[in-house]
Amino acid sequence: MIASLSDNCTLAQKAAILRFIESHGLRVHVGEAGAGTIVSIIGNPEPGLGEMIAALPGVESVSLEAPRYPFVAREARSAPSTVRVSDVVIGGRGTAVIAGPCSVESESQLLTIARAVAKEGAVLLRGGAFKPRTSPYSFQGLGEQGLALLALAREETGLGVVSEVVAPEDIPLMNRYVDMLQVGSRNMQNFRLLSAVGEQPTPVLLKRGLMSTIEELLLAAEYIVAAGNPRVVLCERGIRSFETATRGTLDISAVPVLKERTHLPVLIDPSHAAGKRSLVPSLAAAGIAAGADGLIIEVHDRPDEALSDGPQSLTLDGFAETMELVGKVADALGRPLAVVPA
Ligand code: PEP
Ligand code: MN
Repeated sequence: MIASLSDNCTLAQKAAILRFIESHGLRVHVGEAGAGTIVSIIGNPEPGLGEMIAALPGVESVSLEAPRYPFVAREARSAPSTVRVSDVVIGGRGTAVIAGPCSVESESQLLTIARAVAKEGAVLLRGGAFKPRTSPYSFQGLGEQGLALLALAREETGLGVVSEVVAPEDIPLMNRYVDMLQVGSRNMQNFRLLSAVGEQPTPVLLKRGLMSTIEELLLAAEYIVAAGNPRVVLCERGIRSFETATRGTLDISAVPVLKERTHLPVLIDPSHAAGKRSLVPSLAAAGIAAGADGLIIEVHDRPDEALSDGPQSLTLDGFAETMELVGKVADALGRPLAVVPA
């Protein structure tokens, strides 16, 4: 149920409305929509309660439709939200680029890549230490040693670091090293993990599942925000389709759809969508042109020797060229590339 408050609803009336709803065992979420205040009512209201709420002073109207994702819905905020990660704001006026290797492999590999992407304008470094691999025989990541290398790279470059969390019990360990927790595609509907990242304050990068609808992505984000952590950034990374020419099918329309439905920032991952290095610059540019708040791109100094996702990883030169292209698109849209404050 959703109650719209009238423009002249006083603070005292608003407080009385919320008290009345809560006294019936329901939760409320108050959002500022463009035109006014909206109260999302969460829980199972008893029959007839809608009419009683509609009759309260200060209530304009009541819709009996249950809000699917009251915390992340666009209507919940008067303006799109921004998420601060380390020194960088995602979702503001600028376009934020996160870059790094799929997996942290060694100190020299990570530092080489970190220095190069920082130089070309990436604002955060991403590297996997716990890798969710399709085969149990593939490289699974360096674990805590990889996290420690990320922290070292942050000291060296000043870039905040992002890494994937695959299990709730790893969160305290991850939080000793990283500035943002990635929840990967394969875990988008791991509801215990979603609630766990919601119960702690580190920002979360939530990637869309390979087979998930936009609605399911928003409901996954709702788990995190409803559990208490509003710092969520969404990421479209390609979905499974009948097409085999690319690893995934980049759902570019997810960007404007998400922008209509949620206030959360949206990134595009052109690397996992493409699966192939040569396609990454075009998909990256398309993502920014469609209105994404930024990108997450895989980069490797020696992609042919990478322990994971080498074929889709840009070389250091390729990343520099991609940043030039993306920078032009971002400038044309009035959303220049974000920079790490000095
Ligand atoms: C990754 O970012 O390296 C990764 C495993 O991504 P995804 O969850 O989108 O497959
Ligand atoms: Mn990868």
